[in-house]
Amino acid sequence: MPADEEGQTPLGHRKSEDFNEWYNEVVERADLCDKRYPVKGLNIWTAHGWRTMTAIDSIIRKEMAESGHGEVCFPLLVPEDQFRKEEQHIKGFSDEVYWVTRAGGNDLDVRLLLRPTSETAMYPIFSLWVRSHADLPLKLFQIVNAFRFDTKQTRAFIRMREFHFFEAHTCHSDFEGAERQIQEDLHIMARLASRLGLGFLVFKRPDWDKFPGAFYSLAADTLLPDGRTLQIGTIHQYRENFARAYDIKYEAEGGEHRHVHQTTYGMSERLLGAVVAVHGDDGGVVLPPSIAPIQVVVVPILAKETREPVIAEADAIARELQKTGLRARLDNRDIRPGAKYYYWELRGVPLRIEIGPRDIKEGNVVLVRRDTRQKATVPRVGMMPEVRRMLDLMAMDMTARSVSMLKSGVRDIFSLDDEHADGILRAGWCGQDSCGHEMEDRLGAKLLGTLYEKAPYSGRCVVCEREASEQAHLARTY
Ligand SMILES: [Zn+2]
Repeated sequence: MPADEEGQTPLGHRKSEDFNEWYNEVVERADLCDKRYPVKGLNIWTAHGWRTMTAIDSIIRKEMAESGHGEVCFPLLVPEDQFRKEEQHIKGFSDEVYWVTRAGGNDLDVRLLLRPTSETAMYPIFSLWVRSHADLPLKLFQIVNAFRFDTKQTRAFIRMREFHFFEAHTCHSDFEGAERQIQEDLHIMARLASRLGLGFLVFKRPDWDKFPGAFYSLAADTLLPDGRTLQIGTIHQYRENFARAYDIKYEAEGGEHRHVHQTTYGMSERLLGAVVAVHGDDGGVVLPPSIAPIQVVVVPILAKETREPVIAEADAIARELQKTGLRARLDNRDIRPGAKYYYWELRGVPLRIEIGPRDIKEGNVVLVRRDTRQKATVPRVGMMPEVRRMLDLMAMDMTARSVSMLKSGVRDIFSLDDEHADGILRAGWCGQDSCGHEMEDRLGAKLLGTLYEKAPYSGRCVVCEREASEQAHLARTY
């Protein structure tokens, strides 16, 4: 708990003036994490932060259940010999791996690594689980911690060395089956992002930036207020690349043995980082109602002589809200109402209900939205639909704001001269790697790829001026 237990001290940084410092401060002040753990890149999930993250997980778990995925939990440690079977994968991860080399007093015969992702843990086992076409499609996922020794500057929820990780792994009898899976994943991504109030674009990453071992990689990127993009989800088509390395085969109907086609879908605590970054303000974080651990807080306005009846009424309101399935809390602590407002605003509670002696007399309550701070006085009788309506409206507005920020952050450029990367730049591209790399170098940005659902384009490559049938998207990234 920060020193200002009553929440009196405002945030030291303004989001519009210094986004980075604001972000670093707000994640702790809003009680989402504690960064004081004595290992760099490893943060502590506090109770409020973990409840928020697991609320995101719940949405994902529901999507997984409805799409026929089973949940598994594989061991954290992967033996080195399994890890080395897929060569490209190793190249991509070998610099980021944490090793376990000793157990007790002895060196291990086979070194173990902490999973950076679980292909190499799962696929040797998939080769035992998949036998015939009747075992397909195999659709599994897990939500676990993973480790990557990332040398770039660490940042809560955005770049951590231990991170909370969702990974779905599927096996299919053919390429088309895997492609259909990717379509399903994209729909899940869209529904989830909408619940989180996040606009995003899906790019096909350039070949040099695809996932190690993948045939192609898609990524969902959202735009943060400082003009940099954040990757919040990735979907990979592996074709038979891993199945060949790990010998995952099925017996087809004619008796022939064929390799499976595989996909993966990955997301992480970055989803929470994106919510904080996109929606937070100078008062703290703003959580969408779908993931807020507390959706409504009821604050009684207390005066000495009317204290008891007001607390009783506020308590009754909180209970009624809970009965309708809302996560509601009564705050009857003995501190000023203003301090309570500040405290809950900092933590992102979507809706506050204020009730005082005058409201009781007039038969009203006051509702205050966290995102706009808009106030509405509504009759106490029949207030429940109004509470629901306000939460729904807030959720819709949050998504709309993020989508609109993303749209206005995309800009066409027709030359690389005098350009700087702020937001997402869109430029004609002939598709050659060399031109793509030159764009990256001269703009000081990363080539995100081409839009997955792209409109037909005809123009010129901004580097070589040859005819271009697609547009590269570039941005500075996290
Ligand atoms: Zn070119």
